[in-house]
Amino acid sequence: MKSVISNWSNYPVREAELVSLRKECEIESLFKRGDVIARGMGRCYGDASLAPHIISTTRYNSILSFDPATGVIECQSGISLNELLEVFVPRGWFLPVTPGTKFITAGGAVASDVHGKNHHSEGAFSNHVLSLEVYTPAFGVVRCSRDEKADLFWATCGGMGLTGVILKVKFKLKRIESAYIRQKQIKASNLSEVLDLFESHKSFTYSMAWIDCLKKGKHFGRSILIAGEHAKTSELKRIRPDKYLFPARKFELSMPFHLPSLVLNPYSIKAFNALYYAKNLRKTTENVVPYEGFFYPLDAILHWNRMYGRRGFLQYQCVIPLKTGKKGLTEILNKINQKGMGSFLAVLKQFGKQESLIAFPMEGYTLALDFPIRNGLFEFLDRLDEIVLGHGGRLYLSKDSRMKPEVFLKGYPRVSEFLQIINQYNPNFTVKSDLSDRLLISKIN
Ligand SMILES: Cc1cc2nc3c(=O)[nH]c(=O)nc-3n(C[C@H](O)[C@H](O)[C@H](O)COP(=O)(O)OP(=O)(O)OC[C@H]3O[C@@H](n4cnc5c(N)ncnc54)[C@H](O)[C@@H]3O)c2cc1C
Repeated sequence: MKSVISNWSNYPVREAELVSLRKECEIESLFKRGDVIARGMGRCYGDASLAPHIISTTRYNSILSFDPATGVIECQSGISLNELLEVFVPRGWFLPVTPGTKFITAGGAVASDVHGKNHHSEGAFSNHVLSLEVYTPAFGVVRCSRDEKADLFWATCGGMGLTGVILKVKFKLKRIESAYIRQKQIKASNLSEVLDLFESHKSFTYSMAWIDCLKKGKHFGRSILIAGEHAKTSELKRIRPDKYLFPARKFELSMPFHLPSLVLNPYSIKAFNALYYAKNLRKTTENVVPYEGFFYPLDAILHWNRMYGRRGFLQYQCVIPLKTGKKGLTEILNKINQKGMGSFLAVLKQFGKQESLIAFPMEGYTLALDFPIRNGLFEFLDRLDEIVLGHGGRLYLSKDSRMKPEVFLKGYPRVSEFLQIINQYNPNFTVKSDLSDRLLISKIN
């Protein structure tokens, strides 16, 4: 049966046949329909997990093994990070890398090679993956790792599901003493200051900055840098020992319906930014907070994507290499300022080095901006693309729904190597997505 489906940004929307994978033995028959793509929790923003036939993995979600001596876990690909946290945090283990939402699957974490606030210190998700099992159209189930079928491994990490369906993921969790984060927030009055703060806080495992992209003049790029470490029990003075791994549950709100798109405009965004910047009275604030508020502040409002109205929104996430990071960011923020195209949520992070075949991260700064869909937006983003490419940067496929094929090809210089591997494991593009069609990945030979 067909249903109407979209991912997190509610754009684009398409009709598709959605079937659930429950057991490994079902996978072959699910592939017979052709034009299939795997879908986790649909937290990519655009069209990466949309196709005429979609295989939903969320019911294929068991933990297969766990070694408490090493933290090595093997799980089915449809398990969510939320489910893993519920099981492992009380036992003193944490995810090695987590994005800004816990509502994604392990398969989605691999396919987008997700990054968190610790890319500069601990790399992307693939850094912690030991092996994968992938169902490929050409060879059925193939086990791959850095040492075994390494071509498939690297084309699958960040390969947006185009090598096949990831069935199992084996990776390493990390030890924590508590479920709390020792957090430090520092106000930066402009862009130069926040970039200096990233450097001087490099020793922190986690860091990111919220940036006010509508501020002009001497406060251009004013930000709040938020850095953190997993708190040691010796640092939890006001918390009872029996609560070290069991913080009070967060109260969750839900956005019950789509807001009218007029609610988010340059005036409301400026007002929000001013309030957010003023919330910390002191230049530096230090405190201890439960991990959920630190890693997943947006998850506290379920369906917050409805805030952008029925037309949906786009997230624009780019990375600018370190060498010209400040110049590139200045040019992008200037362009946003000139056009008054403010983003309600603008997040800046620092990436460390990463040798990628097709994954997004590279050493530099990544900026993520949300824009409600409105007239002129696509043309405006084309101008931002020119700036990003001019600095040798690229856009994140997992957030994209509008970049042109030439922008993809220029940003990802190893596409032909990636395609050779795809040709081997998924020769006739039995597996493909609206993203791969749009970027012509499934059409280039
Ligand atoms: C609020 C929010 C914050 C976010 N923050 C970050 C962040 O900080 N860092 C970051 O990197 N990302 C971030 N993301 C993006 C998100 O982490 C990725 O898009 C992730 O891949 C979504 O996983 P999913 O399970 O929902 O997969 P989907 O969104 O359904 O699919 C994403 C891609 O993974 C593929 N895929 C999924 N499962 C499989 C499988 N079993 N086998 C093969 N391919 C598969 C799909 O085909 C698709 O190409 C954020 C998203 C949201 C909504």
